[in-house]
Amino acid sequence: MADKTANKILVTRSSMPPLEEYVNEIRELWDSHWLTNMGVKHREFQAALENYLHVEHVELLTNGHMALELTLQAMNLQGEVITTPFTFASTTHAIVRNGLEPVFCDIEPDTYTMDAEKLERLITDRTCAIMPVHVYGNICNIEEIERIARKYGLKVIYDAAHTFGETYKGKGIGSFGDASCFSFHATKVFNSVEGGAVCYRNPALGAALYELKNFGIHGPEEVSAVGANAKMNEFCAAMGLCNLRHIDEEISKREAVANRYRERLEGVQGIRIGAVQADVKPNYAYFPVVFEPKKFGASRNEVFQKLAENGIGTRKYFYPLTNTFSAFSGRFDVRETPVALHISKCVLTLPMYADLEKEDVDRICDITLSCKKQQ
Ligand SMILES: *Cc1c(COP(=O)(O)O)cnc(C)c1O
Repeated sequence: MADKTANKILVTRSSMPPLEEYVNEIRELWDSHWLTNMGVKHREFQAALENYLHVEHVELLTNGHMALELTLQAMNLQGEVITTPFTFASTTHAIVRNGLEPVFCDIEPDTYTMDAEKLERLITDRTCAIMPVHVYGNICNIEEIERIARKYGLKVIYDAAHTFGETYKGKGIGSFGDASCFSFHATKVFNSVEGGAVCYRNPALGAALYELKNFGIHGPEEVSAVGANAKMNEFCAAMGLCNLRHIDEEISKREAVANRYRERLEGVQGIRIGAVQADVKPNYAYFPVVFEPKKFGASRNEVFQKLAENGIGTRKYFYPLTNTFSAFSGRFDVRETPVALHISKCVLTLPMYADLEKEDVDRICDITLSCKKQQ
């Protein structure tokens, strides 16, 4: 009997440049012996990103988490930050690790991003900022969130970890709000092995981030803040420079994968696939599918299990919700975010990466559809 798991498909596969290209990129480091602390690759990568992302300023960091955490610290905030629980642990952790209180807003059922209609009623006199997430590359309701933020004088920091290279109404997605934080982790659309960046407009924020990522060192004899160590090293910056040369091709290959999934799965009773958003240039970061168990006849967990048995990796992304983490030992009430709770139980992200073959997409779809019960 053929081994059904012989042809394994992981949920993602990191993009890498040709080896020679990377070797050429790091060659000069063997002359300079300058390996980290804002060297030549760091400066080149920063400039290349400002150009590619269509933003005024970029500050590079070790990862997306430190981008979120240090941005909040740099803003010197106190009190409550309104965010959503349908995200990676990082978003909520960045808030809590700054001694701030997360307040959870529910999400929209179609984009899985912050439901701006439920935002205003969560604002109190202790609210200092809003941290929405552009989930799976879906853009938040930017206009409404920023209108409310202006009305109450709140900072807006986007978790833009999923939106590398996207534009909204022709503007770089990182140019909205007070800051947008990107992740260049190996599993993301664009990677520098590990890495992250903050896009911002206010130069004072950039100056604060620059010091905070280097222990808060202000000058040779002055340490003016309790910073961390979150400097991107030269090898990661070099990887980023190489991958950036191939990113447009990577994204168009992802588009073909997404289109094939849509052809096969769209319109199937009990399967929900988010609509393509107007005015957005997407990056096809993930392919989330929501299984409505009553209509599909099988639950998300059953589909997950069936695909796993066939050697296909998928993720229950995002399950569990961050407001249910045992780390918070019952501090938050999940009943306040019912839409997020429902989606977290029904959603599955299917394998998605540039080199995923059409035949593999078809096999994933065949197995997925075989779970459907006739009614
Ligand atoms: C990946 C991710 C992060 C954290 O980025 P790292 O680079 O892994 O630290 C934060 N938020 C979201 C939504 C993410 O997906």
